Order: sequence, then C-alpha cells, then structure tokens
Amino acid sequence: MGRGLDVLVIGLGAMGSAAAAWLAECGYRVAAFDRFAPPHAHGSSHGRSRIFRQAYWEDPRYVELLLRAGDLWTKLERESGRRLLRVTGGLMVGPQDGQLVKRSAESARRFGVRHELVAANDLRKRWPVFRVGDDTMALLDHGAGYLDPEACIEEQLKHAVRHGAQLHLDEEVLEWKAASGEVTVRTGRGNYAAGHLVVAAGPWAPQTLADLALPLRVTRQVVFWFAPKGDMAHFREDRFPVYLFETNDEQPIVYGFPLTGPDSEGVKAAVHGSSEVCTPETACREIRAEDERLIRRRLEETLPSLAGRLVRAETCLYTMTPDENFVIGHHPHHARVTVAAGFSGHGFKFAPVIGEIAGELAVRGESRFDIEMFSPTRFAVGQGTPELRVR
Ligand SMILES: Cc1cc2nc3c(=O)[nH]c(=O)nc-3n(C[C@H](O)[C@H](O)[C@H](O)COP(=O)(O)OP(=O)(O)OC[C@H]3O[C@@H](n4cnc5c(N)ncnc54)[C@H](O)[C@@H]3O)c2cc1C
Repeated sequence: MGRGLDVLVIGLGAMGSAAAAWLAECGYRVAAFDRFAPPHAHGSSHGRSRIFRQAYWEDPRYVELLLRAGDLWTKLERESGRRLLRVTGGLMVGPQDGQLVKRSAESARRFGVRHELVAANDLRKRWPVFRVGDDTMALLDHGAGYLDPEACIEEQLKHAVRHGAQLHLDEEVLEWKAASGEVTVRTGRGNYAAGHLVVAAGPWAPQTLADLALPLRVTRQVVFWFAPKGDMAHFREDRFPVYLFETNDEQPIVYGFPLTGPDSEGVKAAVHGSSEVCTPETACREIRAEDERLIRRRLEETLPSLAGRLVRAETCLYTMTPDENFVIGHHPHHARVTVAAGFSGHGFKFAPVIGEIAGELAVRGESRFDIEMFSPTRFAVGQGTPELRVR
C-alpha cells in the first residue's frame, strides 16, 4: 500500500497527465496510473496534430479556458525547451449565415480574440485550394495553430516526474473505492490509498465511471493523410493555416492541417464526427473503403486538390456527451473523486487547463474557473457505489 499520498490519478492521457503535472508542481504527492505507456495510439490523443483555436464557435464560455490553456502551453514550451504549438492561424470557413463563421465571430469579438473576416474573393486569392461559393466567408483566428499531442503528453509527464509524481505505466486500475476518509485503487501490482482520486480515463470512462451511468458514447473516427494532386507548396505551413470547413447541407465539418512533416507524410484532413459507436476494445481499427469514400467526397466539395493519393490513415476515438460539452466536476456521490471525461472530440487544446481544474477540484474542493456547464449532474446520473470494479 503506497502511503502518504495526496492524490491518485487514473489515466495519463491528455487530461490525466496534465492533472498529475499541475498537482505535482503545486507540491502534492501524486501517484498516477495508466494501462498503457502514454503517449500511445489506443485512446484519443494520438495522430501528431490537434487544432488549437480561441474563436470558439461551440460556445463562448470556452474562451476563458482557451486563453488560460494558451498561456499554459506556452509555459510548458518554455520549461521543456520543446516546440509544442505551431501558430499557423486558423480559418473557419462556411456560409455567411452558417453557425461556424457567425458564432466564431461572436466569441472572438466578445473576448477580444485577434481575428479577421475574409470574404469569398479574398479567400480564393489567398488560399486557392479551397472551393468556395460566393456566399462563403471565413474567420481567420490569428492565434490558432496546431499542437503535437504526443510531444505534449510526453512533456506533461516529464513535468510531473520532475516535480516528484510517481507514474505507474502499464499498470491498469482494476478497481477503485471511495470511503469517508480516503480513496483506494487496486491494480494488478498493488493497492494504493490517498486523500483524493482524479478519474481521467478518456474512452474508457464508461467502464471506469460505470456507477455514474453517464450518457457517454464512444465513437470511431478516421483521419487521413493525402499527397495533394497539385503543388504541395500550397499546403506548407508558412502559407496554409489549420481550418474547419462547414458546408450548408447538413454534412459534417471537414477539418485539416498544413503539411506538418516531410512531403512524404502527406497532408492530414478528416471529417469531424462519425457516429459509429464502439468501445476501445471493439473499435474497428481497419480502414474501410467507405471511410475513404466519405473523406474523398467531402474533399471534392471543399479542397478538391488535396484528394490525391492516400498516404496513410488511422483511427481514433471520441467520447461524446449528448450536448458535446465536457464532464468535469466532483463525482456526485463521492466528494473525494473528481471526474474529467466526455471531451466530445474537441478537448485536447484545453488539456493543461483541464489538468488545473481537476487538480483544484481534488485538493481545494473548487475551481476558480466557471465550470457549471460541465457539471456531471446536468445528466440523470446513476446511484454511485462506494466500490467500482473497472474490470
Ligand atoms: C481523430 C481525433 C481528432 C481530434 N482533433 C482534435 C483537435 O483538433 N483539437 C482538440 O482540441 N481536440 C481534438 N480531439 C479530441 C481530443 O484529442 C480528446 O478530447 C482528448 O485527447 C481526450 O483526452 P483524454 O485524456 O480524455 O483521453 P486519453 O488521452 O485517451 O487518455 C485516457 C487514458 O486513460 C487510460 N486509462 C483508461 N482506463 C484506465 C484504467 N482502468 N487504468 C489505467 N489507465 C486507464 C488510457 O490508457 C489512456 O491513456 C480529437 C480527437 C480525435 C480522436
């Protein structure tokens, strides 16, 4: 039994590694567990790039967190000496009366996010690879860019270790218990006790938080790297930004990146949000012909010259909530347990501030950020049990 610990953390992906780093830096004694050795490709945080943006169409209440996340990524870059965030600018492209441009602009204006509106003609001149109609426009979020998720997790883990956290890699938590004075976890290697528990299990949250019966849906997503048909120069990151492209026909948003590595790696693009429900264990990791057909059809409609030879593709997992907002808060039945789950396909950019919030909730009982919209109790939750066998 590991004694004298303040906090146990289940999961060392994007959110758990950030929580462990924040807690350790604040001087708390932390032991953190992962069933694999992150960064790894079994969950939600792999694939070399994640969009970072601050003009947030989803809900302006996220912007305060994004401003803080931006500062924390910069701090981690400075301390690690490693480039984690590439600022390329970010284009939100869509119909003038669509949700993406309108709502991004509203949130940018309200919070003073540096941006520019770009009309269709100008868009065609500056970024000729986009196929845009005359009613299309774009918002350019100047501070947007992309994070390297594997490097970010590596650096969060190193930061945690530098500040004294114990990391238990390849050590799956099989069970956790919450009693009035402490929490305990059992793994294949031992039992551990501490004052508090943070559960950041990503797409395994439905199992790890089974007692809460949160309405989480884990879905299979596919991302692709293409060799463009035309000139690769159009996609180089000194002239091509990250982007989200909405069309006005109820089709899922297309998003993508500039060329982030050597030409041979291809240019990454994907469709946001397939609804194929799975678990991490049942997810089909093969790439099917219909996966490729869908992305090619969407690229024909948005960036036709990108849909050249397919270089590579891989699967990843979203953990969706019904309202697509995160679940962060105290476990409704166990004050010593903090939950960070349901990041609904847009959580990575927030990781360091989620780590801070989860850490604050665990050791201070509250967060200085407004997190009401993330409350687990906005859903009808299960009864909770003092013991949960994860497997
Ligand atoms: C294709 C794709 C594209 C995305 N694009 C973006 C983007 O552009 N921008 C953005 O902001 N977000 C994006 N996201 C979303 C973002 O990546 C996720 O919200 C985020 O990575 C989730 O992090 P997490 O810590 O919750 O999960 P994970 O990083 O998967 O971590 C969960 C960890 O818990 C561990 N674990 C689970 N159960 C146990 C247990 N019992 N014992 C021990 N360990 C356990 C797992 O091994 C895992 O390491 C994207 C996601 C996908 C799939």
